[in-house]
Amino acid sequence: MNEFQIDLNTLLVVTIANIAALAIVSPAVMGWRISEAARSARLSLVLYATSWIPMILSNLWPETLLDRFLSTLSVGGFAASNWMLFNAMSHWLGPRRFERTVKLLIYLIPVGYCILFTSYAVRVGWANFLLGVQMFLLAFACLRPAKSVHGKWRMVVGFGMVTMAILTLGRGILGAFTDSYPSFLTPHPWNVIAMFMTNLLPLMVNYALLGGWHEEAEIAIHEQAITDAMTGLNNRRGWVEIGQPLVANANRQNDAMALLMFDIDYFKKINDTHGHDAGDRALQALGVLLLANRRKNDVAARVGGEEFCLLLPGCILDSAIQIDQRLREQLLPMATRLGFQVDFSSGLAMRQPGETLERMMMRADTALYRAKECGRGRLEIAP
Ligand code: GH3
Ligand code: MG
Ligand code: MG
Repeated sequence: MNEFQIDLNTLLVVTIANIAALAIVSPAVMGWRISEAARSARLSLVLYATSWIPMILSNLWPETLLDRFLSTLSVGGFAASNWMLFNAMSHWLGPRRFERTVKLLIYLIPVGYCILFTSYAVRVGWANFLLGVQMFLLAFACLRPAKSVHGKWRMVVGFGMVTMAILTLGRGILGAFTDSYPSFLTPHPWNVIAMFMTNLLPLMVNYALLGGWHEEAEIAIHEQAITDAMTGLNNRRGWVEIGQPLVANANRQNDAMALLMFDIDYFKKINDTHGHDAGDRALQALGVLLLANRRKNDVAARVGGEEFCLLLPGCILDSAIQIDQRLREQLLPMATRLGFQVDFSSGLAMRQPGETLERMMMRADTALYRAKECGRGRLEIAP
């Protein structure tokens, strides 16, 4: 057994070197202009690495005022590092529970540690117990089901943190209730495992940082791919992607659903008379109008050049007609701002049992065509 001795000093030096390398490599690879979440996760790593430095230095002046100062600084740094990672998770995964507790512990841990410094057992118990609690809350924040899509990367931090929290609590118990843990360099097996985990955890956090960063980019690119740049509405791809499941759901629940299709009247003439820019502004005006009148679950999209669609879940015939009417009324006063009158024709299709989005669109389109034939500036309802 004696041949297999792990030298804690070496392990600690390697750990700090690893974390420092991660902290330096991260901006070199990811650059400085990253989201607040990624920045917070990165800062957490840097803080974690640097917080070990005063802890090691404090060992040179044991049980002095300088020891008290350096150790407190270190313990506070660990607590702040946990908070930074928690903050990153809140940004990536949405609001997390126990945020205030985790934040409060940044102050509570070092202040209590400094006050209780004269008793080794109490201060070590205090700091490790509360750091352990903070890590459990951080793990909970990672593992708690997130509302929207989120990658497995958060599990890596979650389980890593649970392990670290258990080891840290164990350190607290050893320090507070036994004599077998007189210093953070004690070669007690529990401490050796904890040091090993201290070495591995930053690697895991770094994966989370890359995972979260990658997911952010994915979400942003997807958002761009389904958005029409000119109006900010969904484009045709977004329309289909969001609309199809809504129609399928309405079919399952047998809920009412309306689809309104709009086409601007004589749009070519607007372009020809007032210029392409004026045409663009008219499209944007209609986009603003659709966005403003949309309810939470409605889908508004620009499905073609000057063709727009509204999908209205739970909407009955009378309400759909009213919405069309309201849009017409609101578009009228926009003429003064645009410098010309804009009107549109529209077709309305109410969902029929088992119908697909495409089929509803075809019926709305036929009704729209009829509205054009009947003189434009009006709504026609598909039979
Ligand atoms: P109708 O009343 O029959 O709908 O007549 P219209 O002139 O609106 O019909 P048409 O569909 O033939 O014309 C659509 C025009 O929309 C043709 C195209 O130049 C113009 N258009 C398509 N996309 C854009 C765009 O992004 N900006 C501008 N300014 N014009 C566009
Ligand atoms: Mg058209
Ligand atoms: Mg048109």
